[in-house]
Amino acid sequence: MRLFEAILEANHRAVAGDRDAGLHPAQFADALPIAALTCIDVRLNPLIPSVLGVPADQFIWLRNAGNIITGPLSSTMRSLALACAVKGGAEIAIIGHTDCQVCKTSTIQLLERLKNLGVERRVLPDNVNEFFGMFGSERQNVIKACEIVRSSPLIGPKIPVHGLLVDIETGKLEWLVNGYQAWATMSDKWNDVVRSAGETVDKLKTLTDFNIGEMKFPETKIGETVTKAEDWLASKIGAFQAPPQQPAPPQSAPPPGPSVAGGIVDFAAKHWPKPPAGGQPRSPHPPPKIPSPPPIRVRVGPPRGKK
Ligand SMILES: [Zn+2]
Repeated sequence: MRLFEAILEANHRAVAGDRDAGLHPAQFADALPIAALTCIDVRLNPLIPSVLGVPADQFIWLRNAGNIITGPLSSTMRSLALACAVKGGAEIAIIGHTDCQVCKTSTIQLLERLKNLGVERRVLPDNVNEFFGMFGSERQNVIKACEIVRSSPLIGPKIPVHGLLVDIETGKLEWLVNGYQAWATMSDKWNDVVRSAGETVDKLKTLTDFNIGEMKFPETKIGETVTKAEDWLASKIGAFQAPPQQPAPPQSAPPPGPSVAGGIVDFAAKHWPKPPAGGQPRSPHPPPKIPSPPPIRVRVGPPRGKK
């Protein structure tokens, strides 16, 4: 079981009334700490990260109004990238919440409230909605944010990107985007690219794997075959020309196309990370120090006496 599978299971058990539901962080050392983006809503202060059952020192907490990602290179994106690269964040979670006021505020209301604060309409961009990243669905906002993070060049392929929605009343988590599945899909796509590149090499090889006149080049490497063919052609061309013969093309000529394609395949095979075999993607950082069990118990529900 991977980290967020365990988090969701423990959370749902806790919501169902199991007071012992919790997480053993030591079992997921490779997947911690989490780098999470949530809304600034103060009701989340006592709720997160306890509804996940993750120890506070393994929870890198980024916040902005509406947990909005405006673009693949935005300020929040840069912070997420640094959270992973500098602070060792091993998995990313975008965590939206129900009853989000950013979602409930209309453009007219926003302009009105800004005006009340002395911010005139004329100093704001034409498309205020787009500028602030306003949204009409908490779920869609999380899904969109995950897509942007996943596609950002600042986040490498080794980091799963999850999307969750927390019920601000009950603390129940809903898993909107399974970062492990997206991770596997991306890995498959890359394997397709590598495979098709390999097929291209094979096709190119069939072009060079033939007899030229009386000469045959069996079982030679693609590059050698092409070079020999060039030598042969050069000598034939030379035979039609007045002596002295033209020199053959230098051996140090740029590599032919097939070698370039082969190089890409080799490079990909060496450098593309292997999909996790039932485990978490490996973090480049040493496992954080995590206390042994007892488990971090999941605490759900709002603080008593407050609403
Ligand atoms: Zn909110």
